[in-house]
Amino acid sequence: MNTELPAAAGIDFIREAIRGMKAYQLEPAEAGDKLDQNESPFDIPAEVKREVLERVMNRSWNRYPDFELRELRGALAKASGTALSNVLVGNGSNELLFTTIATFVSEGREVIFPSPTFPLYDKLVTICGGTPREVMLDPASGLLPVNEMIAIAARSSEPPLFIVCSPNNPTGGVLRPGDLDRLLATGGMVVLDRAYGEFSSAPPPSLHERLVTLSTLSKAWGLAGLRIGWLLSTEEICWEIRKVKLPYSLNIFSEQAALAMLERRELMERNVEAIIKERERMRYALEEMEGVDTFPGEANFIAFRVARGARVVFELLLVRGILVRDVSSYPAMNNALRVSVGTSEENDRFLEALQGILSGGEQ
Ligand code: PMP
Repeated sequence: MNTELPAAAGIDFIREAIRGMKAYQLEPAEAGDKLDQNESPFDIPAEVKREVLERVMNRSWNRYPDFELRELRGALAKASGTALSNVLVGNGSNELLFTTIATFVSEGREVIFPSPTFPLYDKLVTICGGTPREVMLDPASGLLPVNEMIAIAARSSEPPLFIVCSPNNPTGGVLRPGDLDRLLATGGMVVLDRAYGEFSSAPPPSLHERLVTLSTLSKAWGLAGLRIGWLLSTEEICWEIRKVKLPYSLNIFSEQAALAMLERRELMERNVEAIIKERERMRYALEEMEGVDTFPGEANFIAFRVARGARVVFELLLVRGILVRDVSSYPAMNNALRVSVGTSEENDRFLEALQGILSGGEQ
């Protein structure tokens, strides 16, 4: 050891890119009606939970899960009309986003994505040393800025790498028919996040050699607490992403719960149908309110703008036991809030409280 060198402070060992980043944070708040995280309002039926526990009881907990997760990947391949080799499973789609981005993004690599969108893309690209290239969208259009993304890509000397979230979090906007083909026609790679895909009218895309599609069981399938995400791509791309992925990231509880729910697709479909119906009811009621504008969207949440004081409205809802997401600091989202579609009782309470706040002159 060279004793001439001064000792560095612990913090000096942290990469500069990390020290310069903001942490992904969630406001700690307790509320009776939790409408802030786009979770499913419907828990898994008790008999399905019992069946999962039974299945796990019969497994050896001292043994690792199946290295290949063949059964679960097989069930997802069947559900998506693909093959086992096209499917990877991870600890939530967050893990697979990290793995995918780490596979594609090296130092200085430009990555093009709309803004505002899911903040994790920016963070993961930054962690990998890449350069986020955000393309502003107009939340009121319900669309994603595909033309602008393609125009930016055309100015670059390298084939573009796009990330697109459709339906987009937090606006709800979606890719229109033909948009994905146009992005692919640039010769670029597209990472498509379909976390809210089940709530939209767009069918899942077919496999393409330059497409990675991410999905999750956290939203429509009601398994957010068990952290199960999956991705689809060509065998070749999956093979490369696998090299980056941590082994055994999915535990045997989650694996069995995913299998049990995939066997009950009709349960998910029924819940999605109910959520979409409620979403449209909420949209209508919000549009009826003086000083409220909703952004068009096809997810299990609605982003809406209040005439003024979004933060105050957020706080007043919280006082009434209703937690929504304050997205007013996102680009192009001034005075906007985002509410997840809950049970019809929760939605009623939210609508009533909001109406009261807006008409009560409490701002
Ligand atoms: N993508 C988007 C767009 C999301 O909104 C979320 C969750 N908020 C995720 C991915 C991550 O989902 P999970 O890790 O629970 O699968």
